[in-house]
Amino acid sequence: VFSVTAAHDWSYWGQYGPAHWPGLCLTGTKQSPINIPTETTTKADLGLLKFIRYDFAFPGNITNNGHSVQIKLNGVPIHLEGANLPSTYILEQVHFHWPAEHTVDNNRDALELHFVHYNNKYDNASVASQHENGIAVVAVLFKLNTNDNLAIIPILKATESISNGIGKSTELMEPKIIPSLFLPKDHTTYYHYEGSLTTPGCQETVMWFILTEKLSISERQLSIFKSVGTINGTLSFNYRPVQALGQRKVYHHLDQYATATFHSYNLFYICS
Ligand SMILES: [Zn+2]
Repeated sequence: VFSVTAAHDWSYWGQYGPAHWPGLCLTGTKQSPINIPTETTTKADLGLLKFIRYDFAFPGNITNNGHSVQIKLNGVPIHLEGANLPSTYILEQVHFHWPAEHTVDNNRDALELHFVHYNNKYDNASVASQHENGIAVVAVLFKLNTNDNLAIIPILKATESISNGIGKSTELMEPKIIPSLFLPKDHTTYYHYEGSLTTPGCQETVMWFILTEKLSISERQLSIFKSVGTINGTLSFNYRPVQALGQRKVYHHLDQYATATFHSYNLFYICS
């Protein structure tokens, strides 16, 4: 999600690739990403996610950090609340993985967007990432489609201009970015589990929310991400392989799930 080490210290392939990432990345028991086995998820009503000020328009900065394309939005804070979150979480940054990091029933989508938030009881995201429930990430999966995704065009244009060089940044001023354009219509259904940052140091302090409805992107648009340059050549992919689920549960939040169960039970009871 974000790094604590210099850009050249780790990579997505080769001698500094995921199999050689240090510390918790290797020894942790609640690592991310994971495969989401839809049949064996625990269905429950965890509460609605509340996306606060996601529909405002923000100027921002987009940076090639050598591992992804990352966007910081400026202006009033954007918040995530609700669900089983113990606090209010502040949006820190947004970035992309191509192809997706989380798989669903072992299917890997073309792209995954991470909205990274930190618990507002901490001073900043870096401090928050050292504490339990310090980070909340909303992940949006994009499937391949023959049509272009119109909302992502300004981000792709900016990405082209920062492709050739780590640390290169540009301003995203016009049009401004409206975060809700990168959320699917259905914000009410999601998978949830407790995991880690997907980049070194892999801190196990992340509450993950993977929205079940997907957005889409065309192959031509995806190729712009795949052309981003790094110190080791073109960043043709930037996903970490899936990690063992272990003892963890994956929840499938369904709005009013318990109520629905209660009604069908009553119906059954009346009919018999
Ligand atoms: Zn990420």
